[in-house]
Amino acid sequence: MSQPVEVDVVVIGGGPGGYVAAIRAAQLGLTTACIERESRLGGTCLRVGCIPSKALLESSDRYLEARTHLADHGVTVSGVGFDLAKMMARKDGIVAGLTDGVAYLLKKNKVQRFHGHGKLLRRGDDGRVHVAVQPAPEAEDPGAELEVVARHVILATGSQVSTLPGLEMDWDRIGGSTEALSWPEVPDHLVVIGAGVIGLELGSVWKRLGSKVTVLEYADAPLFGMDGEVRKRMARIFKKQGLDMRFGVRVTGARLATTEDPDDGGPCVVQAEGQAPIRCDRVLVAVGRKPNTEGLGLDALGIETDKRGRVPVDAHLATSAANVYAVGDVIAGPMLAHKAEEEGVAAAEFIATGYGHVDYDAIPGVVYTEPEVASVGKTEEELKEAGIPYRKGAFPFAPNGRAKALGQTEGFVKILAHAETDRVLGVHMIGPRVGELIVEATMAMSFAASSEDMARICHAHPSLHEVVKEAALAVDGRALHS
Ligand code: FAD
Ligand code: NAD
Repeated sequence: MSQPVEVDVVVIGGGPGGYVAAIRAAQLGLTTACIERESRLGGTCLRVGCIPSKALLESSDRYLEARTHLADHGVTVSGVGFDLAKMMARKDGIVAGLTDGVAYLLKKNKVQRFHGHGKLLRRGDDGRVHVAVQPAPEAEDPGAELEVVARHVILATGSQVSTLPGLEMDWDRIGGSTEALSWPEVPDHLVVIGAGVIGLELGSVWKRLGSKVTVLEYADAPLFGMDGEVRKRMARIFKKQGLDMRFGVRVTGARLATTEDPDDGGPCVVQAEGQAPIRCDRVLVAVGRKPNTEGLGLDALGIETDKRGRVPVDAHLATSAANVYAVGDVIAGPMLAHKAEEEGVAAAEFIATGYGHVDYDAIPGVVYTEPEVASVGKTEEELKEAGIPYRKGAFPFAPNGRAKALGQTEGFVKILAHAETDRVLGVHMIGPRVGELIVEATMAMSFAASSEDMARICHAHPSLHEVVKEAALAVDGRALHS
């Protein structure tokens, strides 16, 4: 083996948690390396997650808009169709551009990039951690295993698709989100297992492009964990959009049909309690994600995972092993790219300065369906459970001038504020572009604003943000336009 490479910080994983941590560590003057086993940097998010899904959501929405809604604006179009191969190529181009951008950023910040699998080996006598890099088969120099010795390690290995016993995944017809982002043809009938964010975003894409979509969900409403009122409303909206939403349904199996099965449908069979077997063309398994710790060498440093396979960390993102930190999907908390990024920055800052911070009370979540769903802070259910007294103000998009001009009036904004202090504790939205509007609420909560503070801000007219202002006024029963 060649001489070890010595650095201050080595980051394992080049996703939003890892590459951002590496850039921040380098900005703070630390010599930094980043080990990523895929040839493209950017992790799940850029390669097979946030970005390709949003590209397809946007393209499929444009198609639907042209086909069904432009006429409402007096715009006549005929012969509307789509070219799936071109849609996919556009998506791939966006991914390539952004992942190349991450490679450029690492280079610019003088972060050494290693293309291979990172594995914790041991702690040296000087306290530094030895990490092996097993080069990826497609790496420039695939033969040579090398060692990196670092004062600090940041684990940012992310997550992968979870499956269930009974699901016979062939990772093609019966696959996860990665496959559903690249199907070469529109399935006639798609069965989605799980009405979480992935199931609904990707189910929406294929429904818009013409699939019959059946969504099977164990819970009694979609989007488990979000505010109850939002979940109920979204269940109605998805049904109205033509998705066959079936709640309270526990899927027990999925497999490719055999010659023994009746010849009466697509090549896949899905089995669920209380349901007749469903034949379909493709199955999207979207029942959650699990942390990537296999082959990471956690044992070498005595790091144990929790019962969900995550790496436990303290308030400083430090693991049980000295000078080893962990961020993003591999630790507890919402599996979101921006949460991973915040943690990546904080871990680098803890290492370099001893101080770092993530405001876990103000991490927004967005579902990029149509309409969008966005939320930050506590839900009504969580406040009730914790016995926190609150007041609530809600306002619909229906009377808002900008929403009317857009032709997108479905939804509302709901603000929950402490009954005594008026501090904003949670904001929940369904509606046009609420994925952008939620920033206003997140900022307010980050600055510990009251609903009165939000209501007193002058909002441009006409804008969708005026609905946020009205909801803030409604907390005190003084909305102006209701
Ligand atoms: P990852 O992005 O998973 O990155 C980890 C990286 O580590 C991977 O590249 C992996 O190859 C690498 N790795 C793992 N083990 C090793 C090892 N031993 N050695 C070397 N490299 C290793 N989140 C949002 O906030 N917004 C969205 O719109 C959104 N959409 C999504 C859509 C889909 C379809 C999916 C699947 C996810 C989506 N997410 C979204 C979630 C988001 O992708 C993750 O929360 C985010 O990528 C987590 O970042 P991370 O850096 O922790 O891990
Ligand atoms: P999820 O946890 O959001 O939803 C999984 C759903 O599957 C749950 O509702 C669960 O009740 C259901 N389920 C589990 N077992 C079942 C069974 N046997 N039968 C029927 N239903 C069953 O998981 P996901 O949608 O796979 O998403 C994974 C993660 O990716 C999420 O945590 C999310 O944070 C992240 N993500 C975020 C975005 C975004 O921010 N826009 C987009 C996509 C993914």
